[in-house]
Amino acid sequence: MRILLFGPPGVGKGTQADLLSKEYNFTKFSTGDFLRGQISLSSPLGIEVKAYIERGSLVPDDIIMRLVRIFLSENRDGNIIFDGFPRTMNQALMLEKVLGEVDMSVDFAVELHLDEEEIMRRLLSRQHCPHCGKIYNNVTDIQENGGICSTCGHTLMKRIDDDEAIIKRRIKVYEEETKPLVDYYKSKHVYRSIDASGSRDEVFNKISEIINEYTDKK
Ligand code: ADP
Ligand code: ZN
Repeated sequence: MRILLFGPPGVGKGTQADLLSKEYNFTKFSTGDFLRGQISLSSPLGIEVKAYIERGSLVPDDIIMRLVRIFLSENRDGNIIFDGFPRTMNQALMLEKVLGEVDMSVDFAVELHLDEEEIMRRLLSRQHCPHCGKIYNNVTDIQENGGICSTCGHTLMKRIDDDEAIIKRRIKVYEEETKPLVDYYKSKHVYRSIDASGSRDEVFNKISEIINEYTDKK
């Protein structure tokens, strides 16, 4: 089964992709996490993509598709959750082609919705642990524990692109580049829309319903 999670920044795609991959044995592929990993390693790829990410622009499609092809060649069983990919029509068409080559397709494209005010609130308070990856979204939690990860004790950090002006730009890029995927996946009858303003568990339950309905029918 192939699921895509998309939506503007800050809607909780990464959090939900983690929860779903644990619950349903999906392999998660997050292009954003992968690219940030390359940046922190200062690999040639990381150096190439750093400036795009820091200014809130998309990384060019050819780079992204190279990564996706490698990932798919290593994950042939096909239980995959894509987090933050595809992000352009071109990426969506290329994904369809690459999956088609191994007789696969996208089963669900789930769009998570949230209004801009809440996106700002969440992202401006977001910090993460660079060691274990845990995400903290609650300003009071962060202050109470002195900015230290409660799981592993490392100092929490902010993502460099979680800055007000850059968040605005990422939202705009979403509207311009990614929003056309809604009509595309509607035409393929795999589009689902979910309100992401609830708690982590509420959103998780809504996505689970979609997956369960699908697996029950099989
Ligand atoms: P968010 O959805 O919160 O913006 P991500 O971690 O998914 O966070 O993405 C962070 C950045 O990584 C994007 O702003 C973009 O520069 C780059 N990126 C991630 N995925 C893609 C993709 N599929 N295509 C192009 N750029 C991408
Ligand atoms: Zn930690």
